[in-house]
Amino acid sequence: MPDAQHPPEVDRAAASRRAVAARRARAALKQDVAMRVLTPQQLLRRAFEDPASPAGTMRVTEFLTAIPAIGEGKRDRILAQLSISPVKRLGGLGARQRRALEAFLDERWPELQPRSGRSRLVVLAGPTAVGKGTVAAHIKREHPEIHLSVSATTRAPRPGETEGEHYYFVDDAEFDRLIADDELLEHATVHNRFRYGTPRRPIEKALDEGRSVLLEIDLQGARQVRAAEPSATLVFLLPPSWDELVQRLVGRGTEGAEERSRRLRTAKVELAAQHEFDFLVVNDEVGHAAEEVVALTR
Ligand code: 5GP
Repeated sequence: MPDAQHPPEVDRAAASRRAVAARRARAALKQDVAMRVLTPQQLLRRAFEDPASPAGTMRVTEFLTAIPAIGEGKRDRILAQLSISPVKRLGGLGARQRRALEAFLDERWPELQPRSGRSRLVVLAGPTAVGKGTVAAHIKREHPEIHLSVSATTRAPRPGETEGEHYYFVDDAEFDRLIADDELLEHATVHNRFRYGTPRRPIEKALDEGRSVLLEIDLQGARQVRAAEPSATLVFLLPPSWDELVQRLVGRGTEGAEERSRRLRTAKVELAAQHEFDFLVVNDEVGHAAEEVVALTR
């Protein structure tokens, strides 16, 4: 049971933040190669220029399998042919190995060119009270080029919320109709109360126009998007520490002990879902977290 004395895995994640950030940067580079945003040759050049960079610390095995045409068998044959040990990192290759690898790539894939104008579907989820809404609002304000999806919901508008801008406010019958007509990409009942769903058409339109799309939805919704659109990028927003999340969830402790422990239990279950996600972003400072999310939409 999580409490201040027994922090769950979020604190361990914070402690190993540098390693997580480096892994994340390498994962983003590999995705860029896989999506042809970056050519393997470009990634190699970055690695050779700075062996301590994310490109430089990438293992040669990871690098090769990120290239769309190379599986594990082919990778091992290439490494044997070029006399490169599979434990090597790109930045640690000797001059002869570098030239051999570059020449090999140039010969096989001279046509691998970066693809531009690519649009991405990015899902931002995370535990309750981590600040997803604030990060999404920041992105909407600072990056109008990104399409922020507007959900349909059966809950009533709060003061200051506008129809079509914050949500499409609908009744249960209309929500049922949206589901029946397959107009929602995903939908879920959140906090056992109201229904929320992502309209499909505006997203498809934005992606067709070459714009990236951001969905700020709950965990159940994120899982449905993964199933429906395997190419979507799933981002999990983490609190800077477990203590910080406890503060945001239970504040000064005006709730009873039972409610407090219910919220903490829920938070622990939600945090455990982080392993299902492609990227972790720590919400230490809103602007900073927002820019990290924006980088993943490119
Ligand atoms: P609120 O009612 O406070 O605006 O949002 C409550 C929760 O609903 C938030 O966690 C938010 O991420 C989630 N949510 C908002 N829109 C959607 C949606 O379209 N689909 C799903 N699955 N969750 C949503």
